[in-house]
Amino acid sequence: MSLANRHAVVTGSTSGIGLAIARALAKEGADVMLNGFGDPAAIEAERAKIEAEFKVKCVYSGADMAKGHEVEAMIRDAAENLGTVDILVNNAGIQFVSPIEDFPGEKWNAIIAINLNSAFHTIKAAVPGMKAQKWGRIVNTASAHSLTASPFKAAYVSAKHGIAGLTKTVALELATFGVTCNCISPGYVWTPLVANQIPDTMKARNMTREQVIQDVMLERQPTKEFVTVDQVAAMAVYLCSDAASQITGTNISIDGGWTAQ
Ligand code: NAD
Repeated sequence: MSLANRHAVVTGSTSGIGLAIARALAKEGADVMLNGFGDPAAIEAERAKIEAEFKVKCVYSGADMAKGHEVEAMIRDAAENLGTVDILVNNAGIQFVSPIEDFPGEKWNAIIAINLNSAFHTIKAAVPGMKAQKWGRIVNTASAHSLTASPFKAAYVSAKHGIAGLTKTVALELATFGVTCNCISPGYVWTPLVANQIPDTMKARNMTREQVIQDVMLERQPTKEFVTVDQVAAMAVYLCSDAASQITGTNISIDGGWTAQ
């Protein structure tokens, strides 16, 4: 499968799942725009490595996915620097864990803005170009929490259920334009996002680190193993292929059996 001459934007791709997806798309020949936060030197090293390793163009946008005007400007930058955005991966996300009565309003707003609203803004900005060329792929990183809930994750679960609904709506609107829109719903994937929520979960549930990993996280996953970032990336690449042109509006679980229960 080749994605040569395709141009991809992957939000939240300086780390974890997004970086794995960006690298996997580049490996198939797509030019890529990275986005996300982090140490500028490390981001530049990653960008240069992708260009050298996969012989594609790789650019970086530091747009803040919490700010709608920056999100839409990022898509315009991508179209100017790479060409039409053919592949859009909405992946940026943050987490915050707290009982609802203590859940800070600003954390709720940030999670809804970054995990849900940013996808509205990127899609809105990228769709005219995709429609005009009658080809496009939109892949949203949802979560097992787009299908089911866990306590103490009110904002995250709400945002991810929202992404699942947005995915279906956009798929229907674009069905006759050669543009597909799907979401991937991983269970627990070992990334900084997961590692960073361990201390708060320890506090919220009064547990040790090992108890959180075994009794909260992997307890939900019948395989008792974390999903890998490369497994999620492989699905994203498949959804961008021509073989997947009739797959649209779906929510694909990669969760070790979590949502089968
Ligand atoms: P991560 O923390 O490793 O990566 C998150 C990325 O988003 C980083 O590149 C970060 O810089 C970026 N980001 C955060 N806030 C941003 C902002 N305001 N603007 C721009 N970029 C921003 O996390 P991850 O685990 O790779 O998560 C990626 C996606 O996968 C998220 O949407 C997350 O909800 C989802 N997900 C993760 C898991 C898991 O177990 N790790 C499971 C299901 C879904």
